[in-house]
Amino acid sequence: MISVAIDGPAGAGKSTIAKRAANVLGFTYIDTGALYRAIGLACINKGIDVSELNEVIKILPETDIKLIFIDGEQRVILNGCDVSSDIRAENVSMAASAVSAIPEVRAFLLDLQRGFAKKDNVIMDGRDIGTVVLPDSEVKIFLTASPEARADRRTKQLEAKGADVDYKAVLSDIIKRDYNDSHRDAAPLKAAEGSVTLDTTNLTLEESINQVISIIRSKAKAIL
Ligand code: C5P
Repeated sequence: MISVAIDGPAGAGKSTIAKRAANVLGFTYIDTGALYRAIGLACINKGIDVSELNEVIKILPETDIKLIFIDGEQRVILNGCDVSSDIRAENVSMAASAVSAIPEVRAFLLDLQRGFAKKDNVIMDGRDIGTVVLPDSEVKIFLTASPEARADRRTKQLEAKGADVDYKAVLSDIIKRDYNDSHRDAAPLKAAEGSVTLDTTNLTLEESINQVISIIRSKAKAIL
């Protein structure tokens, strides 16, 4: 089995790039942010304040999260309901970022994430895949871009879905999430040892995808 870990800050294009690379290479793409989002959504649905650690921890045993794949598309099932669209809301992003700082939440999701890499060749994206979840992965990529470029892309993405978005609010959320994700004690966002950093600020999506594929091919040359 080959595992590719792609980590990086919010809005760096990880999911779009990883999904396309997985498609080209015939790997399974796993978006681990969706798991943290599902827990964030579970808290919102139950009216739990995500800054109350004990309250969040208390709901974990009754929180069932599954990832299923329909035509190669990952779907997130929370307590039997498909929440794949609901988890993309901005309030869920912030809730996910808050719950992801809780070590018990990270431990709760660890085996689930590792299980996927045992079954299939995977490209897994997140914040701590190369550092914690799959430290032995054959290929590790740290994908980044300037906060402004990331906010610009996220704004366009949300607008394309018909949402009414304010670039400044998106930028401020991105900066806040970057700070939370890289300053927490539990598995902070950082480039894994041995990872290749790819800055996509000045690259088009196609260029970014091609570079990621060529990094994977050159690193995993012996096996692919
Ligand atoms: O990648 P995405 O933006 O969907 O992730 C939502 C949040 O989940 C991130 O802001 C981060 O706090 C958290 N996360 C994490 N570790 C991962 C993936 C996501 O802490 N492996």
